[in-house]
Amino acid sequence: KLRVFLTPTHFQISLCLPFPPIFLVNSSLSISLCENHEYRLEFLAFCFVNFEAEMRSLKLYERFTKTFREHPSISRFLIIFAVSGGGLVAYSEANIQNGAKIDELPEAGNQKKRVVVLGTGWAGTSFLKNLKNPSYDVQVISPRNYFAFTPLLPSVTVGTVEARSIVEPIRNIVKKKKVNVNFWEAECLRIDAKNKQVYCRSTQDVKEEFVVDYDYLVVAMGARVNTFNTPGVEENCLYLKEVEDAQKIRRRVIDCFEKASLPDMSDDERKRMLQFVVVGGGPTGVEFAAELHDFVSEDLVKLYPAVKDLVKISLLEATDHILNIDGIDLKTGAMVVKVSDKEISTKEIKTGEISTIPYGMAVWSTGIATRPVVMDFMKQIGQANRRVLATDEWLRVEGTNSIYALGDCATINQRRVMEDISSIFKKADKDNSGTLTVKEFQETLDDICVRYPQVQLYLKNKKMSSLVDLMKESKGDVARESIELNVAAQQGTYLADCFNRMEECEKQPEGPLRFRESGRHRFRPFRYKHLGQFAPLGGEQTAAQLPGDWVSIGHSTQWLWYSVYASKQVSWRTRSLVVSDWMRRFIFGRDSSQI
Ligand code: FAD
Ligand code: MG
Repeated sequence: KLRVFLTPTHFQISLCLPFPPIFLVNSSLSISLCENHEYRLEFLAFCFVNFEAEMRSLKLYERFTKTFREHPSISRFLIIFAVSGGGLVAYSEANIQNGAKIDELPEAGNQKKRVVVLGTGWAGTSFLKNLKNPSYDVQVISPRNYFAFTPLLPSVTVGTVEARSIVEPIRNIVKKKKVNVNFWEAECLRIDAKNKQVYCRSTQDVKEEFVVDYDYLVVAMGARVNTFNTPGVEENCLYLKEVEDAQKIRRRVIDCFEKASLPDMSDDERKRMLQFVVVGGGPTGVEFAAELHDFVSEDLVKLYPAVKDLVKISLLEATDHILNIDGIDLKTGAMVVKVSDKEISTKEIKTGEISTIPYGMAVWSTGIATRPVVMDFMKQIGQANRRVLATDEWLRVEGTNSIYALGDCATINQRRVMEDISSIFKKADKDNSGTLTVKEFQETLDDICVRYPQVQLYLKNKKMSSLVDLMKESKGDVARESIELNVAAQQGTYLADCFNRMEECEKQPEGPLRFRESGRHRFRPFRYKHLGQFAPLGGEQTAAQLPGDWVSIGHSTQWLWYSVYASKQVSWRTRSLVVSDWMRRFIFGRDSSQI
């Protein structure tokens, strides 16, 4: 179903997406070939690997979709098909789950290693999904009993996708596992690294507190919204981080339109109500602004004809770097200094000039900061002067030996080659002659490059590629790691893989040489594979960034976006929900009821 046409300057790919018929529009993607084309092919190949798997499970759709392409007039059947298709998908999954075992509580005196996972976001969930070794007793602690697919949160804010379509109960995800996993809905209040305990409090009304012991702790608590202590933000702005935030925004947008339509409003008030301000020009802010613009121009203008011309969507960004989007008022180089209930004050960075913007709804999306509980933990382990929790390249928290941290709550502290240069030299100089022969150097280079990726980059830039070729990772690794687009998810998969093979790798370490001590590291260090990124621009257009540069902007990329996001869903249940939400939107538009 994937056709690739190669011409001297372009390769073109025709997609026949394996989703319900409305997605079976032949869409083609044309990308110019340049020095990066290998990467691009790799990226595209990766996008389609998922399709292949889905195609196999979707044979049932095929006959139907063929009919549809030959007789486009049967589009009326789409809805029935979507509903029954969803039913079929859910049914087939329900079958797989029949053999699932029921969790038992860990027995006392049980010899299994106790792993405690804090958080059920991208990192925690991807760790849990990939953990296969039954020799662990796993306890998961999170105030949310579900996983949320954050890249679709902006779509939830305007009802392109419903909130329940992008969440999956964590108990659903772990119930199929052979590993013993228990979930507690609670928040972690404190980590006691010395006694290997975490203090928790139930998020239920009773607020019961309890202590959990661990052998290994996996910290995946994510981050909090960063308001930079700007006065008035907490009280007056909405965020876009959690599912509840998206739902609040959806209600607020409709509120603003209804209020602006009331009979006794002054024109200024109407205008203010319909002024939507997004603070922060990162991917989330831009995507939300684009979604809101679509909602207004595709659906709301028809329902609120009297006020439609008053709507204004503004995006404020302190720096100058931002993608331009049609229909959105961009203001760069402006920093928000204060937010009151009706006005936002901004300061021009260059001139220092203060101006105010009246608003009806303001969404704050300027980045993330460390959670207080993680800050407190950092103080205990001697990381008090850092802003973010630091781990080594194996995701182990620096200053501890059985705590791992991944996702938004931590950063990897990359060791610099110069810090270790004398140890490296000693190790490489096998005959202790005090000099390195070329042979000695080459024999150690592989380990150096695994441990210090910047060396590999240097060699590559200097076109010393024959050396680099020597060190290329095995194909298998690339295929395995390319399954996830998201850093947190890649880290979760990596760590689960380490846990799965902990004993094996203790006996037969597969990592690089330990330059400052003897032996080898147990595992290869974590390496993020950047596989590209999407930036929806509204109006059914998307920009895609593949490794290297921006390559593709337009409608065809939007199809790629739909298919990649559908294939990235954690379960067939959410996948069918998301796809049918998209279809419903195509046919009926978005729902603007205030509920
Ligand atoms: P989270 O996913 O935030 O999970 C944190 C978990 O910890 C949650 O389950 C939370 O309930 C739990 N928790 C919180 N406090 C406690 C506590 N005290 N005790 C125990 N548990 C706790 N990234 C991309 O790569 N691509 C995208 O397209 C993309 N789009 C995004 C769109 C939006 C709107 C947003 C908000 C983010 C987007 N991101 C995207 C970023 C991505 O969501 C994060 O990088 C990712 O969620 C980080 O994963 P995490 O597991 O570290 O944190
Ligand atoms: Mg020597």
